[in-house]
Amino acid sequence: MHFKYVVVGAGLAGLTIAERIASEKGEKVLVVEKRGHIGGNVYDSYNDDGILIHNYGPHIFHTNDREVYKYLSRFTKWNDFWHRVLTMVDGNPIPMPITLETINKLYHCSMTPDEMKQFIAERAVPIEEIKTSRDVALSKVGEEIYQKFFESYTKKQWGIDPAEIDTSVISRIPLRFNRDTRYFTDKYQGMPRYGYTKMCESMADSDKIKLLLNTDFEEIRDDITYDTLIYTGPADEYFHYKHGKLKYRSVGFVFETHDCESYQDAPVVNYPNDYDYTRITEFKKMTWQENKKTTILKEFPGEGDEPYYPFPTPDCKAQFALYQEEMKKEKNVYFLGRLAEYRYYNMDAAVRRALDLYEEKLR
Ligand SMILES: Cc1cc2nc3c(=O)[nH]c(=O)nc-3n(C[C@H](O)[C@H](O)[C@H](O)COP(=O)(O)OP(=O)(O)OC[C@H]3O[C@@H](n4cnc5c(N)ncnc54)[C@H](O)[C@@H]3O)c2cc1C
Repeated sequence: MHFKYVVVGAGLAGLTIAERIASEKGEKVLVVEKRGHIGGNVYDSYNDDGILIHNYGPHIFHTNDREVYKYLSRFTKWNDFWHRVLTMVDGNPIPMPITLETINKLYHCSMTPDEMKQFIAERAVPIEEIKTSRDVALSKVGEEIYQKFFESYTKKQWGIDPAEIDTSVISRIPLRFNRDTRYFTDKYQGMPRYGYTKMCESMADSDKIKLLLNTDFEEIRDDITYDTLIYTGPADEYFHYKHGKLKYRSVGFVFETHDCESYQDAPVVNYPNDYDYTRITEFKKMTWQENKKTTILKEFPGEGDEPYYPFPTPDCKAQFALYQEEMKKEKNVYFLGRLAEYRYYNMDAAVRRALDLYEEKLR
């Protein structure tokens, strides 16, 4: 069977491109998705207790990209949401990122902004050439804060020492010499009012978009032909692993529902130094739902097979570069999104990539 446009993957990248092709170009497009639902990793659903959960981990929309915000706002209204994170250090919940509040709570003192600046400057380790995530953290906040907040957390998250990880993981440590404890400072932040799945359904709501769920592209690859393929699945899979399997860090998600209205003091609490999980999310604190019970999610890095985070080491990047060379040889195929580009993208960046690809190549 022949199609003009085929999109593999119904995540945010695939849906954005499919929506553009259908509504801007007015062309039909086939979207092939191996899971039984659309939305990719932003998929959310109601559990048995009627609480909206994020099935693949907590997703908070935030961006400075006005165009992306406006684009997604066509498909959803937003609830105001300013994300807050606490980190359990020495048994105390301390606000993250590092602000004046963090330092004062951590050291049980009441520094002024200037005193905090001096305090940090005295501790920051001068490092000539910043090469790793450890270098980034030490040069910014010094040994003690690095150990309490970043070292064990990063080890737990990646299974290796921050000294072996490139600078992309701890690329920036926002230091705020004020009391602004918001996790993100982007101009646009929020939660889709009726959830991410509803937003994605609205993106796919066109008689020009044909969704084929529960179908691995590999199953139908030899049975279809197309003029243009937009592929958002894993790069190594597309090339039948000819340069080996790309390494990902997976996460095991354990949901628990508790018989209480509130479980913790913030939407997310990090556990850098204790337990096997990295963080606990309480969904009601993101969605403002009212319910006598509450559902939380514990994340156990390294468990499961789902490819969540591309591995941030030079070896893995070099291996992916071999696949990039193969991609250049493919005709009429565009590789898009976090799996095909072997890159961690936030939601706004995934949508931005898709909008740009449409404008530059498909329009
Ligand atoms: C735990 C976690 C938390 C996150 N939190 C945030 C956050 O708070 N804020 C934020 O902005 N971003 C967050 N993200 C990032 C966000 O999930 C991504 O930006 C977004 O999902 C990228 O969309 P995508 O379409 O590129 O990939 P995906 O959502 O992964 O979509 C790819 C789709 O392709 C399908 N597919 C793969 N292979 C095949 C195949 N062979 N055949 C058919 N279909 C296939 C997959 O099933 C999937 O549905 C988080 C990511 C993770 C893992």
